[in-house]
Amino acid sequence: MTQMVLGLFPDSAGYGRAVELDSNDPLAHFRERFVIEDGELIYLDGNSLGRQPVAARSVLMDVIDSQWGDRLIRSWNEGWWELQLELGDQLAPIVGARPGEVIISDATSLNLFKLAEAAVRARPKRDKIITDDLNFPTDIYVLDGIARAGGLELVIVESDGINGPMKALSAAIDQATALVSLSHTVFKSGFTYDMAEVNRIVHDAGALVLWDTSHSVGVVPIDLEGSGTDLAVGCTYKYLNGGPGSPAFLYVREALQLEMENPITAWWAHTQPFDFDLRFEPVVGIRKFHTGTMPILSLAGVGPGLAEIADAGIEEIRSKSVLLTEFLIELWESELEDLGFGMASPRQPEKRGSHVSLSHPEGYQITRAMIELGKVIPDFRAPDNIRLGLSPLYTRFVDIHTAVHRLQTIVRSGAHRAFDVQQATVT
Ligand SMILES: *Cc1c(COP(=O)(O)O)cnc(C)c1O
Repeated sequence: MTQMVLGLFPDSAGYGRAVELDSNDPLAHFRERFVIEDGELIYLDGNSLGRQPVAARSVLMDVIDSQWGDRLIRSWNEGWWELQLELGDQLAPIVGARPGEVIISDATSLNLFKLAEAAVRARPKRDKIITDDLNFPTDIYVLDGIARAGGLELVIVESDGINGPMKALSAAIDQATALVSLSHTVFKSGFTYDMAEVNRIVHDAGALVLWDTSHSVGVVPIDLEGSGTDLAVGCTYKYLNGGPGSPAFLYVREALQLEMENPITAWWAHTQPFDFDLRFEPVVGIRKFHTGTMPILSLAGVGPGLAEIADAGIEEIRSKSVLLTEFLIELWESELEDLGFGMASPRQPEKRGSHVSLSHPEGYQITRAMIELGKVIPDFRAPDNIRLGLSPLYTRFVDIHTAVHRLQTIVRSGAHRAFDVQQATVT
């Protein structure tokens, strides 16, 4: 067994600066509002599964003990039925939407299907869907499925692997385009699109736009209203800290809610579901994008995370996020670049979300070694990306410093070579 690499590195480059940045951090006290069982563990994967808010336990225990345990079916009329709308309204200001434009519902993949299919049906004379090769695979699969079923063409615009291909996108978007669907912050490099700029190009061609905000919601300010976004979806279990598998959100601009039809005509989207009428009659408003009975335990877990984001303020969160990613890039330059690590994220902060990807030919083994020997949890995205997610509500500057030095120590010693190159199921 190779030796563990733990502890702080107080005599190494950047330590004093990390301590100083932490002591000047106006959001530092939010860390106490998250469950941290192991103080030695450095968690840099909040972009995949956010930490548990301390408040989540009592909210969920109340659902279990009182709402489910005691009130049973009566709970549907005591808050459960409205919960996805209420939480949607709570999320709305975080994404620049108005009340009645957002619901929490289903998985991101399913919401993407519902809205993308609704969009192409709303543009029946057009036969192209456009995305890029930086998009998350599930998004590409869903868009491809819709294209194949409807006899449309899916155009996947090529990028350089890091930056959004703005020129090629704008050349591809034309009068035959029904829908443009992109990730706001892309999952590998963290490149972040200028929503308003893309929306203008899409709307000039008469097409609709659908943004996936899974990697930006809760950490990058989003103005769905102001940017002229038509449709959006996103996860709640990443920077929103809603818990494993917590339901996603969807947004439909109010002006489009009449025109757009939910392709899944299920009973929660019915105007009077408890009339049990055999004819489907869609309800007016955002409820028409409901599907079926919600997983109340998972849904209830979304509230505490949203409350922390609202309390901290999305602009303050963004300011800290930029400082965190800048600090990490600074340390990469001085401590890691010489060891073969490349920068696989944009260098300009305005083009970046809250994670930084380092590339390394032995990236997978290094990731395993960081977890097993260094107690640092990043994640790995093939072929060579080590993603370091910096969630501002609980990541300290000193955590970044420690992670970089544990990483440096491991790679210098070659300890990562003892790890298998075979990937685990969930990375
Ligand atoms: C995480 C993520 C998803 C996950 O989709 P699920 O249906 O919730 O599993 C989808 N799209 C993007 C861009 C993501 O980052």
